[in-house]
Amino acid sequence: NATKLKDYEIAELAEKNMPMPYEWQEKLGLQKDEIIPYGRICKLDFMKIIDRLKDKPDGKFIEVTAVTPTPLGEGKTTTTMGITEGLGKRGMNVGAAIRQPSAGPTMNIKGTAAGGGNALAIPMTEFSLGLTGDLNDIMNAHNLAMVALTARMQHERNYDDEELAKRNLRRLDIDPTRVEISWVIDFCAQALRNIIIGIGGRMDGYMMQSKFNIAVSSEIMAILAVARDLKDMRERIGKIIVAYDKKGNPVTTSDLEVAGAMTAFMRNAINPTLMSTAEYQPVLVHAGPFANIAIGQSSIIADRIGLKMFDYHVTESGFAADIGFEKFWNVKCRFSGHIPNVSVLTTTIRALKMHGGGPEVVAGRPLPEAYIKENVGLVEKGCENLVHHINTVRKSGIKPVVCINSFSTDTKDEIMTVRRAAEAAGARCAWSEHWLKGGDGALELADAVIDACNDQVDFKFLYPLEMPLRQRVDIIAREVYGADGVSWTAEAEAKARAFEKNPAYQDFATMMVKTHLSLTHDPTLKGVPKRWILPIRDVLVYAGAKFLCPVAGSISLMPGTGSDPAYRRIDVNTENGQVIGLF
Ligand code: ADP
Ligand code: MG
Repeated sequence: NATKLKDYEIAELAEKNMPMPYEWQEKLGLQKDEIIPYGRICKLDFMKIIDRLKDKPDGKFIEVTAVTPTPLGEGKTTTTMGITEGLGKRGMNVGAAIRQPSAGPTMNIKGTAAGGGNALAIPMTEFSLGLTGDLNDIMNAHNLAMVALTARMQHERNYDDEELAKRNLRRLDIDPTRVEISWVIDFCAQALRNIIIGIGGRMDGYMMQSKFNIAVSSEIMAILAVARDLKDMRERIGKIIVAYDKKGNPVTTSDLEVAGAMTAFMRNAINPTLMSTAEYQPVLVHAGPFANIAIGQSSIIADRIGLKMFDYHVTESGFAADIGFEKFWNVKCRFSGHIPNVSVLTTTIRALKMHGGGPEVVAGRPLPEAYIKENVGLVEKGCENLVHHINTVRKSGIKPVVCINSFSTDTKDEIMTVRRAAEAAGARCAWSEHWLKGGDGALELADAVIDACNDQVDFKFLYPLEMPLRQRVDIIAREVYGADGVSWTAEAEAKARAFEKNPAYQDFATMMVKTHLSLTHDPTLKGVPKRWILPIRDVLVYAGAKFLCPVAGSISLMPGTGSDPAYRRIDVNTENGQVIGLF
């Protein structure tokens, strides 16, 4: 009985018969040199596969998003795995794309989640511990830019113009107070947020304040998620702004002549890693951009080959629909040119109870009683959040499928209440037990998805690229968040004005920075808050990724490690090498 098994036990059982790389080659009909094995998993050679399949029509494209979640997560990854397993049970050629976790949270509060129960991606140990090294490649590429920058600052200080000319170097005149990038490490290390570097003598570097951010927040990670191919990645890496000079002009990785070497570290990270569902459908794992500033989605490259290899390709968007789906819709699909067939809106009864006025849900504490006992009133009231997100998805031209991710405490009347609300709002609705039963529990969901994929989609963006930045933000705030408007600090408005005037930024994506725990900027406001204004306090620019990020809220690019981190419970069985306590 699956309910009695823990995730690691389910994973362990499933991993016994997991396809090995050479079996995947046969299963997926790949050429020998399109598989790059790493132990019992492998990477897929993106360039070879996309070249061979370039004339093949794309499969159906399914996106998975969610209602505004509780801090516990409502099961987007679990549902992504569930749909994949359910479509597998229906005999479809199906695969999925998800993101790679960061070691920061894995070793800190959260542990890894690659879905859960019988809707799980395996092998979990590799997934939790760096997989095939993409994050190391990103750290090397990123830190090399810092090495180039700090070495250049030392040399420009130590040499006069004549000495620089002898070395064929042009003075960049970097302003040490306007260094934009940091060092990166893939842990939550608050002690590295503010540091002094270059202490020592003339040959010990340029002394200045510096910092570390978590590796997944690197612009290189954002670039990996949105690049279409290696050429696009190389161009974007060369446009990263590392600092400003004393006149205020940007200094880029190309000015430091380091962009080529950075891309060299990324040559292998461009290939997605192949994992498996617990029922042996293929799962592409690629990129894992930091939630806040970046796109927070599985990569465009993984979607490109997934759509070629599978008849049904399921991709997970981060966050709730106001953030995850909005970025999928207006940024990722615009960059990739892919048109989705359907969006699956994951909900749980517990999230809707929270939106209906239920008591606060806190991670690590037991759920209050309202969430365990039947309470149709709370569910009914909370459905307004679900309906809001359904309406958002419908604005793109997609009619969503609502998936009620089933928990053992759900009751018939609570489920019926959600069904009625979803259907009245024009969505299909499926109740799904993939967590408990795997693909057998997800047949209703799989059928709803197959049915929805036959709909004609009249896909349209929320705004055209010609629309100026502030107007775009206004539309997103009103149409997607339900705000009455937007307020700008003087600083943010001045920046926005400058970006609007400069044609170089016209094709940049608008990448909103906002909490996913509320439709507003305030994570404590649940349901569908009315009569409020979205405050924008800054606009960040990522010139390589081509993002302009209006910031509504606070962001820390270096989270902290708490007093009861996950690493306290992780160890290795020295008899057989098995890692315990990871998930
Ligand atoms: P998200 O991707 O939306 O953050 P996850 O799929 O990672 O959410 O799920 C969050 C957590 O909830 C995971 O630990 C998962 O195992 C658990 N979970 C998800 N669905 C269920 C369910 N139906 N019953 C019990 N636990 C679940
Ligand atoms: Mg997830």
